[in-house]
Amino acid sequence: MPARDELPPVRKVVVVGGGTAGWITAGVLASRFPLRGEDGFAVTLIESRGQPPIGVGEGTWPTIRATLKQIGVTETDFLRECDASFKQGSHFVKWVDGSDADAYYHPFTLPVGYEEHNLAPYWLEDPRGQSFADSMCFQAAICGQALAPKQITTPEFTGLANYAYHLDAGKFGPFLQKHCVDKLGVRHLVEEIVRVESKDTGDIAHLVTKSGELLTADLFIDCSGFSSLLIGKHLGVPFLSQKDVLFIDKAWAVQIPYPTDDTPIASATVATAQSSGWVWDIGLTTRRGVGYVFSSRYVSDEGALEELNGYLGARGDPTRDLSYRKIDINSGYRQEFWTRNCVAVGLSAGFLEPLEASAIVMIELSAKSIANLLPSCGGGMRQAARLFNDTFRYRWERIVDFLKLHYVLSRRTDSRFWSDNRARESIPDSLREYLEYWRDHCPWHEDFAHREEVFSAASYQYILYGMGFQTHPATWLLNDRERNLAREKMNESAKYAKALTASLPGNRDLLSKVRRYGLQKI
Ligand SMILES: Cc1cc2nc3c(=O)[nH]c(=O)nc-3n(C[C@H](O)[C@H](O)[C@H](O)COP(=O)(O)OP(=O)(O)OC[C@H]3O[C@@H](n4cnc5c(N)ncnc54)[C@H](O)[C@@H]3O)c2cc1C
Repeated sequence: MPARDELPPVRKVVVVGGGTAGWITAGVLASRFPLRGEDGFAVTLIESRGQPPIGVGEGTWPTIRATLKQIGVTETDFLRECDASFKQGSHFVKWVDGSDADAYYHPFTLPVGYEEHNLAPYWLEDPRGQSFADSMCFQAAICGQALAPKQITTPEFTGLANYAYHLDAGKFGPFLQKHCVDKLGVRHLVEEIVRVESKDTGDIAHLVTKSGELLTADLFIDCSGFSSLLIGKHLGVPFLSQKDVLFIDKAWAVQIPYPTDDTPIASATVATAQSSGWVWDIGLTTRRGVGYVFSSRYVSDEGALEELNGYLGARGDPTRDLSYRKIDINSGYRQEFWTRNCVAVGLSAGFLEPLEASAIVMIELSAKSIANLLPSCGGGMRQAARLFNDTFRYRWERIVDFLKLHYVLSRRTDSRFWSDNRARESIPDSLREYLEYWRDHCPWHEDFAHREEVFSAASYQYILYGMGFQTHPATWLLNDRERNLAREKMNESAKYAKALTASLPGNRDLLSKVRRYGLQKI
């Protein structure tokens, strides 16, 4: 076995792709390993002007705050330059039975007492005529009034309620690019890769650009989007389709102007169920981003467009002179994400569908894991890959379960899309086993194997009880101490909701102030 210092070092990284995945990954790595020069670490990002980034993906998860902070941008600059707004969760409309009263929240703030106690059984015992989110979390009330999660004096990246952002996907990449190049020393190339060549060992040797330049690296990060240039096309890692579980395979996307400059900006992503999928509705400071993700097995492109226009028309939005984009979605992920000296991040690794904004958070987690696992020499590559693949295979499987849960719990009967989604053969065994378990046990931390779950038991509680799932815990598993605590916490939460709704500014008001004055630096 060669001595450690005889093995090739891993300090030259090439990121292929300049979309959200490429720039987040480059930013996380370059900020974690800032030493440049001969003894340092080098990050190069290459993207092709002929293949622009996908330009959708505008809803994020609260992890994004830590990621932006790690990369070193300020929240004020980010909010201003990406037309971003505060997102505090998702609002699901017409998912349960399709009636006009059918709506519930999945807020980002955890249910009351969650850090130490599972109080969900006590809400089930006495829901006090309120939804789970309304009783167990103050944030649904804030979202209901389109309020911000903080004040102008609240320091950057902190809030009175947990939050993420809605951002302009077309502006986010260029914003990160400027910071990564100017402040973090990332080398940026605009060139098309036309060929990938491997060594005898099977590792990638170099990328060949259209102008004939050879790009070598110790580690290649494939952020090439759906084209999956390295991990898919070159290395041939199989793609595991999830289309028999998650039926969405197309989207119509459109941008909608606000009728006036002071129209309130929603504080949550609104997800409204339709005959064959659902419509996302995301409010930025300058416009809304709206789209219908649907299954072509159940509705034609024209039929879906008509439904999308029906949604817009019912809200009084324009439906003429809009520019609609059709996007194909191939739901699934790679069998491996890190193979040899190549790791895939973003759409090249996989994509399921936009529900619950799980894609950008997976990019953030991937970038963080690469930084944490990165060996200093090539000898550690195989072990790093094994650890990364085990964790991320688990994460993709868990996300499939969590997204499918939204469809399985629906009682809609208006189309085959919804009834087929409840067919036993379309539900993964793992989800069926969880649902069986949760008949008499409310989801809790220990139900899941990992310390850092993408969707924790809190998220499962919000969806299960928001959609009317019934858990019947045995009476001998309940006690008065926790029963009283639950009552106390729910009362406190109601009071806090009242105080916050009386004092927090509107989402738009705060964002306008941020444009003028900026947030307080940490
Ligand atoms: C309809 C829809 C809605 C979505 N909504 C959400 C959401 O709300 N929240 C969320 O988290 N995610 C969402 N996503 C996913 C999200 O859009 C992506 O995860 C995110 O944009 C990352 O994309 P990417 O960087 O992997 O790929 P892309 O943006 O496609 O970037 C690919 C890059 O690779 C480069 N490239 C490709 N081939 C070559 C080549 N030969 N040479 C050089 N460069 C090359 C391109 O130039 C480009 O820069 C959505 C996706 C879809 C389809």
